[in-house]
Amino acid sequence: MIKSYKKLFENNKNWVKEINSQNPNFFEKLAQGQSPQFLWIGCSDSRVPANELTGTAQGDIFVHRNIANMVIHTDMSMLSVLDYSINVLGVKHIMVVGHYGCGGVNAAMGNKQVGLIDNWLCNIKDVYRLYEAELDAIEDQVKRSNRLVELNVQEQVFNLTKTSIVQNAWANGRSLLVHGIIYDIHDGLLKDLNITVGDTSQIDPVYKFDVDLNTQQ
Ligand code: ZN
Repeated sequence: MIKSYKKLFENNKNWVKEINSQNPNFFEKLAQGQSPQFLWIGCSDSRVPANELTGTAQGDIFVHRNIANMVIHTDMSMLSVLDYSINVLGVKHIMVVGHYGCGGVNAAMGNKQVGLIDNWLCNIKDVYRLYEAELDAIEDQVKRSNRLVELNVQEQVFNLTKTSIVQNAWANGRSLLVHGIIYDIHDGLLKDLNITVGDTSQIDPVYKFDVDLNTQQ
């Protein structure tokens, strides 16, 4: 584990050297712009870095991270990332990536006050309440936490599909898939939850917006 602040800059120089030795035009090309195909909505946890664990390079994934990979409809930061990535960058896939052993999810399962974050974690408690019978029936604490991590990802996928941003993209004939994924910090593997959504057919009617003609192209 790196503890020295200066070491980060040393590492950065070595990293640039390494890339330049393999591809001298890499940074020049990258500076011309980005057109990533993927939006990653993941947890802020330091053990879940989008590019490293997918073996992708800079420019490949547009990233938004917050505690417990939440999609909260009043979160201007998340909404701005979502709108920009779909309507300007033209991403084709949105991935909500949760991870087992998530500190945010574990804290939400407990009753201790942590601080301001309690208000953020309340959104995970709402997910717990939706699946209370299933979750309460799981005696093992770790297994119950893992299941809540999965259900939380599923609900955040649904939360994305409830936004007018995603619904308008579909109404405009855009190919956009929203995926739910789990990262296992114990073995480093990604698991697709197979709950991919690509249209409004699974959305509860109360969340379906009329198509906004102003946004049709
Ligand atoms: Zn986490």
